[in-house]
Amino acid sequence: PRRRAYELHADHHNLGGRIPLGLKAKSMRVLVTGGSGFVGSHLVDRLMARGDTVIVVDNFFTGRKDNLLHHLRNPRFELIRHDVVEPILLEVDQIYHLACPASPVHYKYNPFAAFIWVMFGILDGYRDHKTNVVGTLNMLGLAKRINARFLLTSTSEVYGDPLEHPQVETYWGNVNPIGVRSCYDEGKRVAETLTMDYHRGLNIEVRIARIFNTYGPRMCLDDGRVVSNFVAQALRKEPMTVYGDGKQTRSFQYVSDLVEGLMRLMEGEHVGPFNLGNPGEFTMLELAKVVQDTIDPTAKIEFRPNTEDDPHKRKPDITRAMELLGWQPVVPLREGLPLMVSDFRQRIFGDAKEGDS
Ligand code: NAD
Ligand code: UDP
Ligand code: UDP
Repeated sequence: PRRRAYELHADHHNLGGRIPLGLKAKSMRVLVTGGSGFVGSHLVDRLMARGDTVIVVDNFFTGRKDNLLHHLRNPRFELIRHDVVEPILLEVDQIYHLACPASPVHYKYNPFAAFIWVMFGILDGYRDHKTNVVGTLNMLGLAKRINARFLLTSTSEVYGDPLEHPQVETYWGNVNPIGVRSCYDEGKRVAETLTMDYHRGLNIEVRIARIFNTYGPRMCLDDGRVVSNFVAQALRKEPMTVYGDGKQTRSFQYVSDLVEGLMRLMEGEHVGPFNLGNPGEFTMLELAKVVQDTIDPTAKIEFRPNTEDDPHKRKPDITRAMELLGWQPVVPLREGLPLMVSDFRQRIFGDAKEGDS
């Protein structure tokens, strides 16, 4: 099949399938939970290209089998439909734990989220919110039994609506424990705590990444995140919905940069936490402008009321990752966005329109 632009781009990071500098040459057995999702599937591509044996565990809550179709016939690859809230027995060397109901539409608008969090285990209809606690516990239990190295994909949301800018890993954050987005923020904070408890108490080898807003091909089309919303809206000739005054800021990282950071973190000697994000900071109005420049200069903007507890600013301080992992992002927004746009265009309009603009 014809290769897409972003796959060729990924090869650039792969150095044509050769092992990137500093990464171990030994072939690994690697478990990726949430591996059929956006970030997970790109990570799986890199691990497969490196020659690893990869097991993906995913319940397809937001992930898609489509993202992994190209590996299904490879004997080094295995896809298991499983919810990490349930225990599982596997034998691997490394665990990348990504499984999480990560998109805002899946948690932000549920006013009972915080309550349900406290009650997890009791209300079965809200199993998704259990993932961060019970799912992480199970994967740590697995890591303990088989002596595997465990990497948690935490989030910049642990900093809440930050009072320090940019955010350094030593900052403890400003999170509302009972707000509408607490199920995600606090869930990841608990996951970090569990991870460090298993590390300190049981000597499990762990790594923690705090991921900042990431975009790229294979993102869910309608997951409510700002980049996917603006791109899908502009392609569909709908107005881009800017929440609030649009002056809040975020830093947008292209997915191949993130995957490179995650692998360096896993292979390196440092526990973290490490901020993994692109320090380039944009207001939502500036982002809308970049989307206009990339897709359609006549695309309209429509203002909508903002959601509660929306962080005003966010930007990673990545000094630690630069110094200890030798990592920094290399794809600026204006370069990465077109790669995502061609994937979205294809998924929204089908192959026929590829290349149209
Ligand atoms: P995604 O929704 O595309 O991927 C998450 C995957 O986890 C999906 O495939 C989903 O089906 C799976 N999953 C959810 N609950 C599960 C469960 N109980 N059992 C098994 N599988 C389950 O999201 P993503 O953007 O790829 O995020 C991956 C990880 O990175 C998440 O942990 C997320 O919190 C973290 N993260 C992402 C971003 C970002 O901007 N994309 C930012 C910060 C943190
Ligand atoms: N667990 C798992 N797979 C394993 C080992 C453990 O899913 O191979 C789960 C186990 O069911 C438990 C969790 O991980 O719920 C924590 O395990 P641990 O051994 O740390 O704690 P314990 O079982 O002693 O409570
Ligand atoms: N946002 C927006 N329009 C949208 C979706 C989101 O203006 O259609 C804003 C949102 O209010 C927030 C920022 O974009 O200030 C980033 O939102 P997202 O949900 O993508 O990520 P997060 O808030 O988790 O950083």
